Amino acid sequence: MSAPTGNPYARIDDLLSNVRNFKIIESTLREGEQFANSHYSTETKIKIATMLDQFGVDYLELTNPCSSPQSRADLETICKLGLKAKILTHTRCTIGDAKIACDAGVDGVDVVIGTSQFLREHSLGGKDMVAITKQALEVIEYIKSRGCEVRFSTEDSFRSDLVDLLSIYKAVSQAGVDRVGIADTVGCASPRQVYDLVRTLRGCVSCDIEVHFHDDTGCAVANAFSALEAGATHVDTSVLGIGERNGITPLGALMARMMPSSRDYVLSKYNLKMIKSIEDFVAEEVEINTPFNNPITGFCAFTHKAGIHAKAILNSPSTYEILKPEDFGLTRYVHFTSRLTGWNVIKSRISQLGLIMTDDQVKEVTAKIKAMADIRPLAIDDADSIIRSFHLELNNGEGQKGQSEQNGQNAQNGQVEA
Ligand SMILES: [Zn+2]
Repeated sequence: MSAPTGNPYARIDDLLSNVRNFKIIESTLREGEQFANSHYSTETKIKIATMLDQFGVDYLELTNPCSSPQSRADLETICKLGLKAKILTHTRCTIGDAKIACDAGVDGVDVVIGTSQFLREHSLGGKDMVAITKQALEVIEYIKSRGCEVRFSTEDSFRSDLVDLLSIYKAVSQAGVDRVGIADTVGCASPRQVYDLVRTLRGCVSCDIEVHFHDDTGCAVANAFSALEAGATHVDTSVLGIGERNGITPLGALMARMMPSSRDYVLSKYNLKMIKSIEDFVAEEVEINTPFNNPITGFCAFTHKAGIHAKAILNSPSTYEILKPEDFGLTRYVHFTSRLTGWNVIKSRISQLGLIMTDDQVKEVTAKIKAMADIRPLAIDDADSIIRSFHLELNNGEGQKGQSEQNGQNAQNGQVEA
């Protein structure tokens, strides 16, 4: 187990942390089906399941087969594909749902029941915790008797009474449940709250701990990471985060977060070069664009623009990159056509174009590009044609000598942008 490199502030692992030993429960085919635009055909479900299996996720979670006849048929179809990933379905905590799930051929059943006062009053007809616990134990015993894995999760865990929560988790753990689940169903939790709850729970149960975070307040990735630090073992994700409302922890963004912390583990398990094709496929299916600021695959995720950034990147990419684009089968792009550009970047471009100039000449043409970029946005072709015509002038003996000092000064002025 090697310490993370390159970050002097990185914490030394404690014994609780599972940052370097976690599993993914991929829920694009369950949570993702709750996304506003989702309407998967059977073929699409098979394609998504197959791609995610090749990517290396540990589990695939599918929609409750009781939802509709097609949902049930599709679950049965995917169970028969012979994938390496275990197939789960997500059901209400009732014997009726559990029976249909087990009959479909799943490896495990994820049962969920509301424990917050809101849900007990408004969704469960006022059931008390004694009745909820009794029901949970019956369903767990039934699923185990069918030879399936079983996870028991509360819903809206962070707005449930802590004593109620710990009592029911302890009871189901003693009954032999494989995992207990914490679900931030409304997306209200902060990373510190997550750390505290998971750490407390870790001391109360002996089984695995699964976590499920909604992204209403933008904390879904941070909360998942915090949960792993506190001893959670399994994280729920979906491709691009699609799910109910604005969704859950995105698979790709979680990978981006885990790479600096557990690079060797991630590379040994997951086929990161598939992230882009998986995201592109799902984005097209649900008719969305990948956000510009998406980790790894946003169009500018590996684009460097400011002169001083670009200069350092050309010398050593890790100066301004915590993630390496090549790990994901992608390439970096050094932006060289803006007013923020610097002569080192232009020098690199000149050599890409197969041209030769002295440093003073490079500084001179950089000043021309900056002057033009102050007037209007430049395309790559625009900048290239400024470079080429400047080079042509030099070869025709018309290059202006003596201006390089002043122009070099101009270039330097433009490089302080960071
Ligand atoms: Zn959810």
